[in-house]
Amino acid sequence: MSLTIGVDIGGTKVGGGLVDEDGKVLATALRPTPADDTSGVIRAVTEVVEELRGDHEIEAVGVGAAGWISADRSTVMLAPNLSWKDEPLRDKVAAAVDLPVVVENDANVAIWGEHRFGAAKGFRSSVLYTVGTGIGGGIVVKDNLLRGTHGVAAEIGHMRSVPDGRVCGCGRKGCLEQYASGGSLTQSAREGAKADPGKASILLKLAGDDPDSITGREITEAAKQGDEVALAAFDFIGYYLGNSVADLVQLIDPGVVIIAGGVVDAGSVLLDPIRKHYTDALAKRAALPVAEVKAATLGSKAGVIGAADLARHLT
Ligand SMILES: [Zn+2]
Repeated sequence: MSLTIGVDIGGTKVGGGLVDEDGKVLATALRPTPADDTSGVIRAVTEVVEELRGDHEIEAVGVGAAGWISADRSTVMLAPNLSWKDEPLRDKVAAAVDLPVVVENDANVAIWGEHRFGAAKGFRSSVLYTVGTGIGGGIVVKDNLLRGTHGVAAEIGHMRSVPDGRVCGCGRKGCLEQYASGGSLTQSAREGAKADPGKASILLKLAGDDPDSITGREITEAAKQGDEVALAAFDFIGYYLGNSVADLVQLIDPGVVIIAGGVVDAGSVLLDPIRKHYTDALAKRAALPVAEVKAATLGSKAGVIGAADLARHLT
């Protein structure tokens, strides 16, 4: 059996999985992500790999990290959340674990996992949105990741949705992730509950009558119970996501569009508005064959599975 290890470096935890050639996760390991400590992160990755390795024969290690990864998949050129700049992650991890290593952007490993074993399986071209704190993007065209000349393509979250709109962490104004991320959902619900508490009675009850403490989980629960403000918050992010999906469908014509990330647990209260606004935005094009919008199926394991599979094929 061919075994590889996938590691996902997130903002709060470093998660890893021992993965077989069918994308099955046989074991997992977890460490907290040390804040502002580059060598600490590499130590955590090394510990995860060694714990999973045990007595197994491992072919290679794939590492997914949030940030801009170089075209040769060796270096994290910039990772704002991890304070990394030109970090030679591949060589450092390879030296520590004495195995071939490949590094890839976190959203790219997620779509690769979904492409090979999840919701995008069977489609040669697909687009993935990870909707969480921000919005990550991944694009597969004809069974290949769209990485661009410098390795940093498919930054869907930083495509402009609103000219001169809200300021984004990337320095631009009006990026999609300022309108359609989990943070935007919460902001929209809190503002809605303050402006019209009568329409947020279910939501406010769940939040202990404190609009500023409203969480994503409470918005989901309230929306499922028919709370108007919670549903409007989902419609708000669904509008921007649906319009973005329509634009990418015009550009790429994928077989499927996958919505992933924590927010997708909301199910139809999120997916229905995305699909509605997507169809509306396509206008006459919607009468032609177009990609379906589907929820991801691998959940939080997509990154680990995708990183492990990339390592098998690329090292
Ligand atoms: Zn941005």
